Amino acid sequence: MSWFKREDGEYEPGSTGSVPDAADAAGRNVRTEGLWIKCLGCRQVVWKAELEANLNVCPKCQHHFKIGAQQRISMLLEPGYELVDQGLRSTDPLKFTDVKSYKSRLRKAQEQTGLNDAILNAVGMLGPHPVVLSAMEYSFIGGSMGAVVGETIARAADRARTTRKPLIVVAASGVARTIEGVGTLTQMTKISTVLCQLDGAPVPDICVLTDPTTGGVTASFAMLGDLNIAEPGALIGFAGPRVIEQTIRQKLPEGFQRSEFLLERGFLDAVVHRRQLKAYLVRALEFLHV
Ligand SMILES: [Zn+2]
Repeated sequence: MSWFKREDGEYEPGSTGSVPDAADAAGRNVRTEGLWIKCLGCRQVVWKAELEANLNVCPKCQHHFKIGAQQRISMLLEPGYELVDQGLRSTDPLKFTDVKSYKSRLRKAQEQTGLNDAILNAVGMLGPHPVVLSAMEYSFIGGSMGAVVGETIARAADRARTTRKPLIVVAASGVARTIEGVGTLTQMTKISTVLCQLDGAPVPDICVLTDPTTGGVTASFAMLGDLNIAEPGALIGFAGPRVIEQTIRQKLPEGFQRSEFLLERGFLDAVVHRRQLKAYLVRALEFLHV
């Protein structure tokens, strides 16, 4: 388990740096591989089942682990929701290949996640409110935004406008998927345009920024909500901190580009713990919905 790296005082002397196998009542070793996970926040070892029961938030330090689009939808919507806009597939317009072909990357991501692309749209009830929910999937090529992601969010915004249901977008994205060519960059303007049209309808648009929300997604729809809220500790920005430091030749302050830092400076409306997120959204919709 090479992902365990020993740090000062973290393990007893003589420890191998891996999680020791547990011993059952008869003293036999029991395989525990895959049952434990190391928290990136407190660097403690956490029981995976306990973590999952806690909405993938570390019970020791409250670090918010990434969660998938399907889990996010199940977490927020009542049972009986419907997945929509499922038929879109990337066409690989540049026939792009680096160390691997884009086609094979796509195929692998599709197999691993069971999704067509890095996003899922759903319609359903968020508490007592009918909503359109669009959730991004970070584990699908880093949640990168290509033509399918852009079009799916645009369709969610159109659906919200025509059915007069509030739009909730949960963002989780590393980059724009530039290997799809210039069409990727036009997604930002397309989504901004449909959100602008939504502005004229009497329905709110709420963006939930999760770790990480960067690049073209931050530069377009993630910051265009009537309410822009974030999960604690989420990395939110356009360019990465190293690029900014090299450009401005200054050391960046502690916590730069994290949710709490952005909230203090007025870029966000609230930082909401995952456990309170659904209740917060229900309250916000009661307040905002006309
Ligand atoms: Zn932790």
